[in-house]
Amino acid sequence: MIKACTLVMMLLVFSAAQAGLHYEWADEFSARERGMLTDWVQRTADGLEALGGRLPFDIRVRFQRASSGLEPVPWANTVRSPGQGVRFVVNPTFPLDEFLQDWTAPHELSHLLIPYLGRRHAWFAEGFASYMQYQVMYHMGVMDWPQVVDRYRRQMSKAEGNYHLDGTSFPAAASQLRAAGQYPTLYWGGAVLFLRADSRLRQRGDQTLGTVIAEYLTCCRMRTSKLSELISALDEISNTTVFSEELTLFDAQPGFPEFEDALEGLAEAEPVPQPQADQ
Ligand SMILES: [Zn+2]
Repeated sequence: MIKACTLVMMLLVFSAAQAGLHYEWADEFSARERGMLTDWVQRTADGLEALGGRLPFDIRVRFQRASSGLEPVPWANTVRSPGQGVRFVVNPTFPLDEFLQDWTAPHELSHLLIPYLGRRHAWFAEGFASYMQYQVMYHMGVMDWPQVVDRYRRQMSKAEGNYHLDGTSFPAAASQLRAAGQYPTLYWGGAVLFLRADSRLRQRGDQTLGTVIAEYLTCCRMRTSKLSELISALDEISNTTVFSEELTLFDAQPGFPEFEDALEGLAEAEPVPQPQADQ
């Protein structure tokens, strides 16, 4: 009886650990390629879970073979219906290590942590995924903390240098940036909001953006669909007004949002223990 119970428990644990990722192969991939690609996505999903907790739904992962390309993942996008997931267009001739160094999967999976918020708030959603991608890579063990901070600094400084709408607030400028195809500026300006929120949370105590998101996934992910609901939930979970304040500041302040102080705060923040790269 004890053995039977143990077996049932083991099966339950095994199913829970294996549930979550469902793979679809739109093109022909060899067994070796499939093994490498699923290993890559699994490691990314593990990094995401270590950062922000477990998504309250299964993730559909669809692979297509790239017709050409000089990088492992020339294209990817999130899919929200039917079911939530990511479509990856890949070059499986690249080695696993190069896939792990690529930010695309951490970025796309991070999108799934929050609902689709509509085209008007694309700057917010892209900023969120861009900020989270390096946090995920830290938890995957492929970047250390100084590298994470350095990468933010480079991306945000570059975006600031390319932002020429000094009299316009960043959210108000977003549609122009998008129309002009200035995607990195759009993404990394938006990411400043999450850097500032994360930095403030870390300085206040033992919270981080990741811990707040983990709680959000548990309580509220499936019942929020608007930006205002998301912001209210994050404020409530963190027991602060950090998120609503930062959003208000973003709307009110003209020019590219300030990020240096928040970046310094992040650099000094004690990161959680980093898992081993081979876990
Ligand atoms: Zn994105």
